[in-house]
Amino acid sequence: MSSILNSEQIAAAQKLIQQSDSIVITSHKSPDGDAVGSSLALYHLMKALGKENVHVILPDAAPDFLQWVHGYNDIIFFDKDEKEATDLISAANLIFCADYNLLTRTGEKMGAVLKAAARPSILIDHHQQPEDFPVVLYSDTSACSTCEMVFRFTDQCGWRKRISLAMAEAIYLGIMTDSGSFRFPSVSSETHEIVGYLIEHGLDHARIHREVYDTNLLDRLKLVGYALSEKLEVIEEAATAIIWLTNDELVRFKHRQGDTEGLVNQALSIKGVKMAVFLREGNSEVKLSFRSKNTFDVNQFARKSWNGGGHKNAAGGATSENIMDALKRLKEEVMAVKNDILAS
Ligand code: 5GP
Ligand code: MN
Repeated sequence: MSSILNSEQIAAAQKLIQQSDSIVITSHKSPDGDAVGSSLALYHLMKALGKENVHVILPDAAPDFLQWVHGYNDIIFFDKDEKEATDLISAANLIFCADYNLLTRTGEKMGAVLKAAARPSILIDHHQQPEDFPVVLYSDTSACSTCEMVFRFTDQCGWRKRISLAMAEAIYLGIMTDSGSFRFPSVSSETHEIVGYLIEHGLDHARIHREVYDTNLLDRLKLVGYALSEKLEVIEEAATAIIWLTNDELVRFKHRQGDTEGLVNQALSIKGVKMAVFLREGNSEVKLSFRSKNTFDVNQFARKSWNGGGHKNAAGGATSENIMDALKRLKEEVMAVKNDILAS
């Protein structure tokens, strides 16, 4: 397996971990499979290294289909237990930042607490343009997932044998979800090598797939059906598909967190479509998900005027405009770059 960190970085990370008796592991808001997987994988690793005072702090809860992961019940949520989370962050000797590139991705308040604490940090992440805050930076924008990077980090530190079954499951969860079940171009032979190793050591990969993808509630499937049949619009001149859902519609289908995940990929799957956008009205803002198939860079598109970012082919953003205004502006912006989308 190729090395990603140089020997000084590895030595610095090992020293930080060895010296620290109070460790906090963090990830981003609205945690996905890679955020839950990478933070809990690091949690199990720290425990296996004999660290007793280790806490995973996430900004908010993950959807139900991610709550089965071993260690999930030990997580402290900043939005529920702000005081405890703040105290732990302030008392930590070391903070892991997993699966995010900017402190603000943990939310305004938690980001400010992390910034004020200014603790030595290890960032492990695959998003583009990471903020310059951590002591040890492990950023690899070509990696399919942060979980793959956690495996490689563990391996390079010489701790492969410390990977328990619980840690293996957490790693697999993030690799599987962030790689679209091993189909995105970011999947490499090393991704499969890692998974091969995990399966050899007892991982039941089919169970994890079932936990995540075969636990739909009927309301969710009806919401997806409604979104695809009533709310999907294709702008043919720009090879772009858009789906949008209002709060009222989400309430009508008894929406639960995570229910609209994957909808944007369905829009992208249409033949000839090169970019897809999903807009979802929330209580205070409209969230957007951007996806592209080829070379059109949705990270740049999301950064430019949607206060977001992510990866070249998958990015997100948000706006405080109402959903109709956001939709109108989106369509104008798509038309303004239609030649770039078509040429991609
Ligand atoms: P999703 O559309 O699945 O929510 O997110 C796609 C990708 O974009 C993920 O890698 C996610 O981390 C990133 N992303 C989503 N929302 C935001 C955002 O508001 N700001 C930034 N910088 N990245 C985001
Ligand atoms: Mn990720």
